[in-house]
Amino acid sequence: MTTNNSLSPHGGALVERVRPLTASTAASVAGLPTIPIRDQMATECVNIAYGFFSPLTGFMGSADVESVAAAMRLGNGLVWPIPIVLDVPHDELRRLGVQVGNTVLLTHQGNPLATLDVSEIFSSDLTSLAQRVYGTADPAHPGVQRTLNYADRFVAGDITLVCEPVINPPFDRFWRTPRQLRSELADANWLRVVAHQTRNVPHSGHEYLMKGAFMEARADGVLVSAVIGEKKEGDYIDEAIVLTHDHLRECGFFRDDIHRTTALMWDMRYAGPREAVFHALVRKNLGCTHHMFGRDHAGVGEYYGRYAAHEIFSELPDLGIQSVLTLEWWYCPTCGGVAYEGICGHPDTKQDLAGRLIRSIISGGTDPAPQTLRAETLQVVQRCAQQYGFGSPFVTEQYLSQRTPVMTIPAPP
Ligand SMILES: [Zn+2]
Repeated sequence: MTTNNSLSPHGGALVERVRPLTASTAASVAGLPTIPIRDQMATECVNIAYGFFSPLTGFMGSADVESVAAAMRLGNGLVWPIPIVLDVPHDELRRLGVQVGNTVLLTHQGNPLATLDVSEIFSSDLTSLAQRVYGTADPAHPGVQRTLNYADRFVAGDITLVCEPVINPPFDRFWRTPRQLRSELADANWLRVVAHQTRNVPHSGHEYLMKGAFMEARADGVLVSAVIGEKKEGDYIDEAIVLTHDHLRECGFFRDDIHRTTALMWDMRYAGPREAVFHALVRKNLGCTHHMFGRDHAGVGEYYGRYAAHEIFSELPDLGIQSVLTLEWWYCPTCGGVAYEGICGHPDTKQDLAGRLIRSIISGGTDPAPQTLRAETLQVVQRCAQQYGFGSPFVTEQYLSQRTPVMTIPAPP
């Protein structure tokens, strides 16, 4: 079977629902009922409108939500693992007099973002929804908590973006719409593209993961797709994630023509295997033909099996995008370097390249061994701490309250 980046978006066509307001059309939305939406909903609006979430054309109705929760499929039969919903309190809907058939204006940062044609207003048993999507209703699971925190109504309907977001530096260099990225990958003649999902500063385990997957997929390029979104204290700051990955290419650890870093705005659900499927579908929409999955992909705590993300793909029909399943890379003193779980015969003396070790190097100010974290990477981390992190490469309260937002919604003309 030949695979190339003419691979169709999920569902066959790239969704694009963007119609920016002009001086003459701004008045047409001015009188609509207005619903301010928070960061998560704003980025999901943007993702729907540019086709990151193709084939979704808006926020889901009850039939899709039920079908996704029960069977990991949309009502039309297409695989889809995670509900994409807009929650609004019943009181607010009543105050605004919003009813099915109305068009409402969704605003963010005080400016118009999108119109929504209301097709359904419904409620859902949130505990049951969480149990089915996450396999647990434990509120200690961050995705469950996110679900339980939804307001008491969901508003479904197609959305149309009326103001295009401005992506702020340094993310403007890395964020591309699916149409833009597909076009650039085609120009670069990347027919086979393997995606690397990340929320980390790359240590040598990540670097070799990419190199191994590049060879296994016989890829033309590695697309680093950094998830930029809601943060909790102790996470790496978003700026450090994209800039360190790109620096691997700048330093020539990956050739210029085979490595590219991009940013995807998404608030992680930590849904383990279901999120692995979601990541694959979004990267398919971006033009990737392959997606790498390692140990405990998008998991949290002990909720999912170590390789549950590997197993789920065997139960799915052909999604078009192919999974590249990787075991662990570790440091082996006997082999004398970074070694692969599937090759190295010294598992008893392996040294995990775990996040904790890397964090202690970054926090402790000691020079890392070249086998763990590259000095070039550490320099970028330290620069990002000063430039963006108020002195720390990890998310702090100050970073959460004072950072420059990733995107700004400009005022309409
Ligand atoms: Zn070894």
